[in-house]
Amino acid sequence: MIDLVQKRHPQLDCDVYVVPNSILMEMSEGDKCVSFVNVPDDNGAFQLFISAEVPYYGLIELIAHESSHMVTYGDEADDHGEAWEKEFDTIHDIWEQNQKDKEKAHKEAEEK
Ligand SMILES: [Zn+2]
Repeated sequence: MIDLVQKRHPQLDCDVYVVPNSILMEMSEGDKCVSFVNVPDDNGAFQLFISAEVPYYGLIELIAHESSHMVTYGDEADDHGEAWEKEFDTIHDIWEQNQKDKEKAHKEAEEK
């Protein structure tokens, strides 16, 4: 998922950290969340923190969600506005197409 996003936005600089839930809770000041984007003061790479307790199938949704924040960061003051939604939908479409392509390639390989 991350590489799909990066292919779409090569300028997007992001480090991903998988951390225990307790650390995430501390960072977000008690907010119950499973992921968290930090924007460093020095305008360095975004830091995406993800709870280690998120199941694999939840990660896809989560990365799509958070990367949409990173891509639209600064464009929009409100969190899940129009620009965010558009980006989120696009990333989703790309992901689905990618899955279909993979399945197709897999089937073709089996038929040979
Ligand atoms: Zn959000």
